[in-house]
Amino acid sequence: MNSILSDRILNMEESATLAMAKKARELKAQGIDIISLSLGEPDFKTPKHIQEAAKAAIDEGKYFAYPPVAGYQDLREAIAKKLREENNIAQAKAENIVVSTGAKHSIANVFMCMINEGDEVVIFSPYWVSYAEIIKLCGGVPVLIEGTLENNFKATAAQLEAAITPKTKAVIYSSPCNPTGSVFSKEELEAIAEVVKKHPRMMVIADEIYELINFAGKNYSIASFPGMFERTITVNGFSKGYAMTGWRVGYICAPLEIAKAVEKMQGQFTSGGTGIAQRAALAGIAGDQTTSREMTEAYLRRRNLVMGLLKDIPGIKTHVPEGAFYFFPDVTAFFGKSAHGYTVNNADDLCLYLLAVANVSLVTGSAFGAPNCIRLSYAASDEELVEALKRMKKALGELA
Ligand code: PMP
Ligand code: GLU
Repeated sequence: MNSILSDRILNMEESATLAMAKKARELKAQGIDIISLSLGEPDFKTPKHIQEAAKAAIDEGKYFAYPPVAGYQDLREAIAKKLREENNIAQAKAENIVVSTGAKHSIANVFMCMINEGDEVVIFSPYWVSYAEIIKLCGGVPVLIEGTLENNFKATAAQLEAAITPKTKAVIYSSPCNPTGSVFSKEELEAIAEVVKKHPRMMVIADEIYELINFAGKNYSIASFPGMFERTITVNGFSKGYAMTGWRVGYICAPLEIAKAVEKMQGQFTSGGTGIAQRAALAGIAGDQTTSREMTEAYLRRRNLVMGLLKDIPGIKTHVPEGAFYFFPDVTAFFGKSAHGYTVNNADDLCLYLLAVANVSLVTGSAFGAPNCIRLSYAASDEELVEALKRMKKALGELA
């Protein structure tokens, strides 16, 4: 092939979540009344006290220069304190924390620092779209272990054990999970930890970005379990729990060797994350948590609302998500059916059909490793959710 572009980018899939959001935005701009349930993004505004902290930081005039590559020291200390006190990660210190431009950037840094050509990374599937593409970009091989609707899409420690080979470098999961909303229990995480401990060359990447949106009760961090601090990279950020997607602040807590490597990588790629955004993040993590709790209460209410409406659509099969803000229903009942000039053979077709006929944008499960499902984000207003589900029910009912 004679492209000016690298094989690296030519072989990369576009982010399906962002692609669907872009499509919805374009159709809206054309005046079409699209309800967008595709992007996993809080519909709330960033809490007022966080906005005020950013304004104050600008007025102070102290944060316009290059920040330290790993993040401001006080922010790293506040993150380490939170991890010690709330996540029971007793060993977490500022030196273990690296702040980056969103958790996506944190994950990319970690894989860039850990993966050699041909190394395998086990992914609990269904999984967030970007994991596999970042792993491949780094020369790694994603190895999927699959959960099913029957077990709330949670693959097991036994499946993890069976997937490990001499080339396995790491395992990654998100809990609460994007796209399924499932949450690992303490026992499930303990079982995963026991498997990992048998393999000294292997690390866990625990993506806890939806930690605050958890209806199941307490969130357990695998890094807090005996012997696991040295084996875990905890990933977290401000996008979801503090409604700060556009501010771009994420972080890792990792053993020193990895934290130092990530700092070095970041020093050559992006430098430290935006100063003002870090000041805002500090107000988020060290300040009053009431707004975050209220947002989670709103998500829980909406989960229940959407649950009732989905149950009312013949053919939709779903479990009850315990966190994040997604439903991930199985839609195989609609495969092979047609209406309005569309034939639905898979979840991709169904999403295109629902976008065209119901004007509701969703994301196909194939982007998350589950081609029988679609993802619906309920981070939207009650009115939008009720209207979207009404339109979906009608359009799906017309398929025959
Ligand atoms: N992990 C998961 C599971 C996600 O859903 C997202 C989506 N935002 C991210 C990481 C990255 O988040 P951000 O880059 O906005 O911090
Ligand atoms: N994580 C969100 C989602 O899954 C935001 C988009 C993205 O970065 O993938 O929709």
